[in-house]
Amino acid sequence: MPSIADRLETVRDRICQATHENHRSDSDILLLAVSKKHPASAIAAAHAVGQNHFGENYLQEALDKIESLSMPELIWHFIGPIQSNKTRAIAENFHWVHTVDRLKIAQRLSNQRPAALAPINLCIQVNIDNELSKSGVTIEEVEELAVAIENLPNIKLRGLMAIPRPNTGDINEGSNAFKKMYDLFNQLKSNNLFSNFDTLSMGMSADLEMAIANGSTIVRIGTDIFGPREK
Ligand SMILES: *Cc1c(COP(=O)(O)O)cnc(C)c1O
Repeated sequence: MPSIADRLETVRDRICQATHENHRSDSDILLLAVSKKHPASAIAAAHAVGQNHFGENYLQEALDKIESLSMPELIWHFIGPIQSNKTRAIAENFHWVHTVDRLKIAQRLSNQRPAALAPINLCIQVNIDNELSKSGVTIEEVEELAVAIENLPNIKLRGLMAIPRPNTGDINEGSNAFKKMYDLFNQLKSNNLFSNFDTLSMGMSADLEMAIANGSTIVRIGTDIFGPREK
Protein backbone atom coordinates (compact mmCIF):
# COMPACT_ATOMS: atom_id res chain seq x y z
CA MET A 1 0.00 0.00 0.00
CA PRO A 2 1.36 3.45 -0.88
CA SER A 3 2.06 5.69 2.11
CA ILE A 4 0.20 8.94 2.79
CA ALA A 5 3.33 10.79 1.67
CA ASP A 6 3.32 8.89 -1.66
CA ARG A 7 -0.37 9.50 -2.24
CA LEU A 8 -0.01 13.16 -1.40
CA GLU A 9 2.77 13.46 -3.92
CA THR A 10 0.59 11.85 -6.58
CA VAL A 11 -2.24 14.29 -5.84
CA ARG A 12 0.15 17.24 -5.99
CA ASP A 13 1.38 15.98 -9.37
CA ARG A 14 -2.19 15.73 -10.64
CA ILE A 15 -2.86 19.31 -9.54
CA CYS A 16 0.32 20.47 -11.26
CA GLN A 17 -0.62 18.67 -14.44
CA ALA A 18 -4.17 20.03 -14.43
CA THR A 19 -3.08 23.60 -13.80
CA HIS A 20 -0.50 23.30 -16.55
CA GLU A 21 -3.05 21.97 -19.05
CA ASN A 22 -5.38 24.83 -18.24
CA HIS A 23 -2.73 27.55 -18.32
CA ARG A 24 -3.12 28.20 -14.63
CA SER A 25 -0.45 28.41 -11.95
CA ASP A 26 -0.37 25.71 -9.29
CA SER A 27 0.01 28.46 -6.71
CA ASP A 28 -3.64 29.34 -7.57
CA ILE A 29 -4.84 26.07 -6.09
CA LEU A 30 -5.05 25.26 -2.41
CA LEU A 31 -5.00 21.57 -1.62
CA LEU A 32 -7.30 20.82 1.29
CA ALA A 33 -6.66 17.35 2.75
CA VAL A 34 -9.99 15.94 3.91
CA SER A 35 -9.18 13.87 6.99
CA LYS A 36 -12.65 12.85 8.18
CA LYS A 37 -12.77 9.31 9.57
CA HIS A 38 -8.98 9.13 9.60
CA PRO A 39 -6.98 9.35 12.84
CA ALA A 40 -4.82 12.22 14.05
CA SER A 41 -1.77 10.11 13.17
CA ALA A 42 -2.77 10.29 9.47
CA ILE A 43 -2.97 14.09 9.72
CA ALA A 44 0.47 14.15 11.37
CA ALA A 45 1.87 12.00 8.53
CA ALA A 46 0.55 14.43 5.90
CA HIS A 47 1.77 17.41 7.90
CA ALA A 48 5.26 15.87 8.04
CA VAL A 49 5.44 16.24 4.24
CA GLY A 50 4.25 19.82 4.15
CA GLN A 51 0.45 19.62 4.23
CA ASN A 52 -1.08 22.29 6.51
CA HIS A 53 -4.72 22.64 5.47
CA PHE A 54 -7.13 19.96 6.71
CA GLY A 55 -10.87 19.57 6.20
CA GLU A 56 -13.22 17.89 8.66
CA ASN A 57 -16.95 17.11 8.44
CA TYR A 58 -17.92 15.91 11.89
CA LEU A 59 -17.54 18.41 14.69
CA GLN A 60 -16.78 16.20 17.69
CA GLU A 61 -14.33 14.06 15.74
CA ALA A 62 -12.62 17.22 14.48
CA LEU A 63 -12.39 18.80 17.94
CA ASP A 64 -10.76 15.66 19.33
CA LYS A 65 -8.14 15.72 16.59
CA ILE A 66 -7.50 19.47 16.81
CA GLU A 67 -6.94 19.10 20.54
CA SER A 68 -4.78 16.02 20.41
CA LEU A 69 -2.54 17.34 17.63
CA SER A 70 -2.32 20.83 19.12
CA MET A 71 -0.27 22.20 16.21
CA PRO A 72 -0.83 25.92 15.74
CA GLU A 73 0.46 25.81 12.16
CA LEU A 74 -2.45 23.63 11.02
CA ILE A 75 -5.33 25.40 9.26
CA TRP A 76 -8.70 23.79 9.91
CA HIS A 77 -11.62 23.93 7.48
CA PHE A 78 -15.12 22.84 8.45
CA ILE A 79 -16.80 21.22 5.43
CA GLY A 80 -19.73 19.30 6.96
CA PRO A 81 -23.39 20.18 7.43
CA ILE A 82 -23.89 22.79 10.19
CA GLN A 83 -26.61 22.75 12.83
CA SER A 84 -27.13 25.95 14.84
CA ASN A 85 -26.01 24.33 18.08
CA LYS A 86 -22.61 23.62 16.54
CA THR A 87 -21.73 27.14 15.46
CA ARG A 88 -19.94 28.20 18.65
CA ALA A 89 -17.41 25.37 18.53
CA ILE A 90 -16.85 26.00 14.81
CA ALA A 91 -16.33 29.73 15.42
CA GLU A 92 -13.87 28.97 18.20
CA ASN A 93 -11.80 26.26 16.51
CA PHE A 94 -11.80 26.64 12.73
CA HIS A 95 -10.14 29.06 10.33
CA TRP A 96 -12.51 28.34 7.47
CA VAL A 97 -16.08 27.15 6.99
CA HIS A 98 -17.23 26.04 3.52
CA THR A 99 -20.79 24.92 4.08
CA VAL A 100 -22.90 27.92 5.03
CA ASP A 101 -26.27 28.14 3.31
CA ARG A 102 -28.36 30.22 5.73
CA LEU A 103 -27.92 33.74 7.08
CA LYS A 104 -28.75 32.58 10.59
CA ILE A 105 -25.71 30.28 10.66
CA ALA A 106 -23.42 33.05 9.40
CA GLN A 107 -24.80 35.49 11.98
CA ARG A 108 -24.16 33.03 14.78
CA LEU A 109 -20.63 32.37 13.55
CA SER A 110 -19.98 36.11 13.46
CA ASN A 111 -21.43 36.69 16.94
CA GLN A 112 -19.58 33.73 18.42
CA ARG A 113 -16.19 34.31 16.80
CA PRO A 114 -13.75 35.08 19.64
CA ALA A 115 -12.48 38.68 19.50
CA ALA A 116 -8.86 37.48 19.69
CA LEU A 117 -9.18 35.57 16.40
CA ALA A 118 -9.15 36.95 12.87
CA PRO A 119 -12.52 36.85 11.07
CA ILE A 120 -13.49 33.34 10.01
CA ASN A 121 -13.17 32.66 6.27
CA LEU A 122 -16.51 31.62 4.83
CA CYS A 123 -17.78 30.08 1.60
CA ILE A 124 -21.44 29.82 0.68
CA GLN A 125 -22.50 26.33 -0.35
CA VAL A 126 -24.43 26.20 -3.61
CA ASN A 127 -26.63 23.23 -4.50
CA ILE A 128 -25.64 23.47 -8.12
CA ASP A 129 -27.55 20.40 -9.34
CA ASN A 130 -30.64 21.16 -7.22
CA GLU A 131 -30.36 17.78 -5.51
CA LEU A 132 -32.82 17.09 -2.70
CA SER A 133 -30.15 15.20 -0.77
CA LYS A 134 -27.71 18.10 -0.69
CA SER A 135 -27.49 21.31 1.27
CA GLY A 136 -26.81 24.63 -0.35
CA VAL A 137 -28.64 27.59 -1.79
CA THR A 138 -29.90 27.81 -5.34
CA ILE A 139 -28.17 29.96 -7.93
CA GLU A 140 -30.99 32.49 -7.59
CA GLU A 141 -30.52 32.80 -3.83
CA VAL A 142 -26.76 33.25 -3.71
CA GLU A 143 -26.34 36.96 -4.22
CA GLU A 144 -28.80 38.09 -1.58
CA LEU A 145 -27.21 35.79 1.00
CA ALA A 146 -23.71 36.91 -0.01
CA VAL A 147 -24.60 40.59 0.41
CA ALA A 148 -25.99 39.94 3.89
CA ILE A 149 -22.95 37.90 4.91
CA GLU A 150 -20.48 40.45 3.54
CA ASN A 151 -21.78 42.92 6.13
CA LEU A 152 -21.16 40.70 9.14
CA PRO A 153 -18.23 41.93 11.24
CA ASN A 154 -16.35 38.76 12.13
CA ILE A 155 -16.69 36.99 8.82
CA LYS A 156 -14.57 37.21 5.73
CA LEU A 157 -16.71 36.13 2.79
CA ARG A 158 -14.25 34.32 0.50
CA GLY A 159 -16.44 32.72 -2.15
CA LEU A 160 -18.49 29.70 -3.10
CA MET A 161 -18.40 25.96 -2.48
CA ALA A 162 -20.17 23.12 -4.28
CA ILE A 163 -20.28 19.35 -4.52
CA PRO A 164 -21.30 18.85 -8.15
CA ARG A 165 -22.94 15.52 -8.84
CA PRO A 166 -20.44 12.73 -9.47
CA ASN A 167 -19.70 12.26 -13.09
CA THR A 168 -22.08 9.68 -14.48
CA GLY A 169 -19.96 8.94 -17.50
CA ASP A 170 -21.57 11.73 -19.45
CA ILE A 171 -18.68 14.15 -19.42
CA ASN A 172 -20.83 17.08 -20.46
CA GLU A 173 -23.29 16.62 -17.68
CA GLY A 174 -20.51 16.74 -15.11
CA SER A 175 -18.64 19.60 -16.65
CA ASN A 176 -21.83 21.65 -16.97
CA ALA A 177 -22.28 21.87 -13.22
CA PHE A 178 -18.63 22.85 -12.74
CA LYS A 179 -18.91 25.41 -15.50
CA LYS A 180 -22.11 26.82 -14.02
CA MET A 181 -20.32 27.28 -10.70
CA TYR A 182 -17.45 29.05 -12.39
CA ASP A 183 -19.81 31.40 -14.22
CA LEU A 184 -21.70 32.16 -11.02
CA PHE A 185 -18.47 32.77 -9.14
CA ASN A 186 -17.17 35.15 -11.81
CA GLN A 187 -20.45 36.98 -12.01
CA LEU A 188 -20.48 37.65 -8.26
CA LYS A 189 -16.81 38.51 -8.26
CA SER A 190 -17.16 41.04 -11.03
CA ASN A 191 -19.95 43.08 -9.45
CA ASN A 192 -17.56 44.58 -6.88
CA LEU A 193 -19.89 44.09 -3.93
CA PHE A 194 -17.44 41.86 -2.08
CA SER A 195 -13.96 42.77 -0.96
CA ASN A 196 -12.36 39.33 -0.46
CA PHE A 197 -14.17 37.17 -2.98
CA ASP A 198 -11.41 34.94 -4.35
CA THR A 199 -12.32 31.32 -3.59
CA LEU A 200 -14.14 28.61 -5.51
CA SER A 201 -14.09 25.43 -3.42
CA MET A 202 -14.89 22.45 -5.65
CA GLY A 203 -13.27 19.23 -6.78
CA MET A 204 -12.75 15.98 -4.88
CA SER A 205 -10.63 12.87 -5.48
CA ALA A 206 -12.57 11.75 -8.54
CA ASP A 207 -13.00 15.09 -10.27
CA LEU A 208 -10.20 17.44 -9.28
CA GLU A 209 -9.08 17.79 -12.91
CA MET A 210 -12.53 18.87 -14.06
CA ALA A 211 -12.74 21.31 -11.15
CA ILE A 212 -9.38 22.88 -11.96
CA ALA A 213 -10.35 23.15 -15.62
CA ASN A 214 -13.37 25.14 -14.42
CA GLY A 215 -11.67 27.66 -12.17
CA SER A 216 -11.59 25.92 -8.81
CA THR A 217 -9.18 27.45 -6.27
CA ILE A 218 -9.58 24.91 -3.45
CA VAL A 219 -9.76 21.18 -4.13
CA ARG A 220 -10.93 19.02 -1.23
CA ILE A 221 -9.22 15.64 -1.41
CA GLY A 222 -9.85 12.78 1.02
CA THR A 223 -9.65 9.26 -0.40
CA ASP A 224 -6.75 9.86 -2.76
CA ILE A 225 -4.60 11.13 0.13
CA PHE A 226 -5.68 9.03 3.10
CA GLY A 227 -7.13 5.94 1.44
CA PRO A 228 -10.69 4.61 1.70
CA ARG A 229 -12.82 5.55 4.70
CA GLU A 230 -14.74 3.03 6.74
CA LYS A 231 -18.46 3.33 6.09
C1 LIG B 1 -15.59 13.72 2.09
C2 LIG B 1 -15.61 15.01 1.38
C3 LIG B 1 -14.61 15.34 0.45
C4 LIG B 1 -13.50 14.38 0.03
O1 LIG B 1 -14.02 13.40 -0.79
P1 LIG B 1 -13.08 12.30 -1.52
O2 LIG B 1 -13.91 11.76 -2.59
O3 LIG B 1 -12.74 11.30 -0.46
O4 LIG B 1 -11.86 13.01 -2.01
C5 LIG B 1 -14.67 16.60 -0.13
N1 LIG B 1 -15.64 17.48 0.17
C6 LIG B 1 -16.61 17.20 1.05
C7 LIG B 1 -17.65 18.21 1.34
C8 LIG B 1 -16.63 15.95 1.68
O5 LIG B 1 -17.62 15.68 2.54
